[in-house]
Amino acid sequence: MSALDEGTRLTGSNLPQVRHLQTEIPGPKSRELIARRANAVSASLGMAMPVFVERAGGGVIIDVDGNSIIDMGAGIAVVNVGNSADLVIEKVIDQVKAFTHTCFMVVPYEGYVEVCEALNHLTPGDHPKKSALFNSGAEAVENAVKVARAYTKRPAVVVFEHGYHGRTNLTMGMTAKNMPYKDGFGPFAPEIYRMPMAYPFRSHVDPQRCAEETLDLITHKMEKEIGLQNIAAIVIEPIQGEGGFIVPPRGFLPGLANFAKSNGILFVADEVQTGFARTGQMFACEDENVVPDLITTAKGIAGGLPLSGLTGRAEVMDSVHASGLGGTFGGSPVACAAALGAIQTIADLDLIKRASEIGKIMSARLLEMQKKYPVIGEVRGRGAMQAVELVIPGSAEPNSSATSAVVKFCQANGVLVLTAGTYSNVLRFLPPLVMPAHLLNEALDVIDQAFAAL
Ligand SMILES: *Cc1c(COP(=O)(O)O)cnc(C)c1O
Repeated sequence: MSALDEGTRLTGSNLPQVRHLQTEIPGPKSRELIARRANAVSASLGMAMPVFVERAGGGVIIDVDGNSIIDMGAGIAVVNVGNSADLVIEKVIDQVKAFTHTCFMVVPYEGYVEVCEALNHLTPGDHPKKSALFNSGAEAVENAVKVARAYTKRPAVVVFEHGYHGRTNLTMGMTAKNMPYKDGFGPFAPEIYRMPMAYPFRSHVDPQRCAEETLDLITHKMEKEIGLQNIAAIVIEPIQGEGGFIVPPRGFLPGLANFAKSNGILFVADEVQTGFARTGQMFACEDENVVPDLITTAKGIAGGLPLSGLTGRAEVMDSVHASGLGGTFGGSPVACAAALGAIQTIADLDLIKRASEIGKIMSARLLEMQKKYPVIGEVRGRGAMQAVELVIPGSAEPNSSATSAVVKFCQANGVLVLTAGTYSNVLRFLPPLVMPAHLLNEALDVIDQAFAAL
């Protein structure tokens, strides 16, 4: 079977599923656009890969110079169903032809209700649930805090070291890492308390003790430093994303959720990055049967269109006064149509299973590399959310220079990879879930070569 056939069958994309370099990276057309960008666009915005895109689909990004680059980032876990997925295109086109906007709070439309029904159905727990839709992950997290405070009538919010929740004022305060997210942007909102995170690789004890000891420390701090009766919510990513794909040891999340429940604290899972089949389950909380009171979703929800959701216990979601939540664009009909297309695509192509398969391929190959390259301190992740943490060989000291060298090598050879981590020493891999196996393996070949070239 040719690469093209395999591409069309699984990816719904008619772009050839191959890595192919037509020019150096960046090529002349990208360089020209990068110069225009520098003149017109605020210098504050980053650029992980120095090329301009022309088309993308399946597992590839085609740049303006005709280079076909393997996409190991999926726009930061957004195009889980692939870029320009067939059903997303179809539903978006139908929707923009019918109407583009009324504002759901002015004149409602069925698509918004359908997305809420889907979220209520798909998220963990079979209790009565309700949802509200917004534009971005940060906005969903902000609204989770609003709802939790309104319901509990308590002010404090507990977050974690290495956590990432967004770039708005409230979510900046909730985010752990100073540079680049917070530096110079304060003051931040009060009543946010940061707790230690169970981070097995950087713990001096075995994973089970790491979970137990960290839980003990957190509950002690919450009791003594905040006062349990003052805590509205514990907000946590079930697997930390920007923080470096930190997978908490088993028992940690259920322990936290149980502690929250016994103390009238809402347990909020920020599944903005982990959601929508990414980890080999629809939501990462399912792995340990954790049922959050509130769950935030965004990134992978709508095949690339901006949409986010807040879903939770019906009585919690209904505790806010009438018109207390909303926004002009939140739950745009076009984004809702895209979400319905993306959710249907996840089911049609069995992308949950596919994410597990991608995870197996990636972790096996990365563990092999770890044996060869002592710079790889740890391989971790779940499903199609895998990472390697780079260290100075023979120690646990973060190695950010090796990390950027690997990224540069991969880019020059037509593979897009992203970094993460408080110490900027984590390579994270988030391929679109429709990436054909041969392409995934080719990306891993290039990553292997990048380590060999260090
Ligand atoms: C990306 C992310 C956010 C913020 O989402 P935006 O859409 O960028 O505002 C919040 N939480 C987590 C876990 C994320 O990964």
